[in-house]
Amino acid sequence: MSDIDRLINDLVIANRILANEGVVDAYGHISVRHPTDPGRYFLSRSRSPALVETGDILEFALDGTCLSDKDARPYLERFIHGAVYEARPEVQSVVHSHAYEVLPFTISSVPLRPVFHTASQMGAHVPVWDIENKFGDTNLLVVNMEQGRDLARCLAGDRVVLMRGHGFATGGNSIADVVKTAVYLPRNAQVLMDAVRLGGTVKYLSDGEIATRAAGWNVELARGWDYWATRAGCGELLRKFA
Ligand code: MN
Repeated sequence: MSDIDRLINDLVIANRILANEGVVDAYGHISVRHPTDPGRYFLSRSRSPALVETGDILEFALDGTCLSDKDARPYLERFIHGAVYEARPEVQSVVHSHAYEVLPFTISSVPLRPVFHTASQMGAHVPVWDIENKFGDTNLLVVNMEQGRDLARCLAGDRVVLMRGHGFATGGNSIADVVKTAVYLPRNAQVLMDAVRLGGTVKYLSDGEIATRAAGWNVELARGWDYWATRAGCGELLRKFA
């Protein structure tokens, strides 16, 4: 088995995890950059993440051109992935989600910020991208590179970008990294929302706490990965390369 086979197996597991943890539903997706050709990435054909299998994974150029099965139907919003990879050379994996818990923060002036420790990787600043600003009335989907690049410009150097009335996109240094970020982002949104409803003042993680957590982030990654994958029924896939 090659490194690419292992990576694609991990991408399948990641799809199942994100679905099982409620980060994605029928819609939403995760990709991974090609390990030796930074101008390419892997992403499922247009299929709900809970159902994605190895045979569904397609290879794309950053501009969204499908390089494998020309007849396969790709996700309409694959441009989110290519545009983030293009703008951020260090990003190795990208998630796009419509998680309900996050949506209020895409339409409100109240910023989404980390309020508990395992959500720290989202970073202190989470920008909100509004497709209307540049593209007027659309169906709100990112359906070409021009829109993807505008989204990536808003993401800039941050970890997460919210998409007004739509969801979020986030990039990470590995599949496990971005999965953990994406799992805790909606939970952080929920906790923050609950705290705001309590009244009083809300205390966020400090910049120093976020930086300190980032330094130790990878140490805990494998434990979460094994747990979420097993919970998602991926025990067999986990053992495939063990
Ligand atoms: Mn979407």
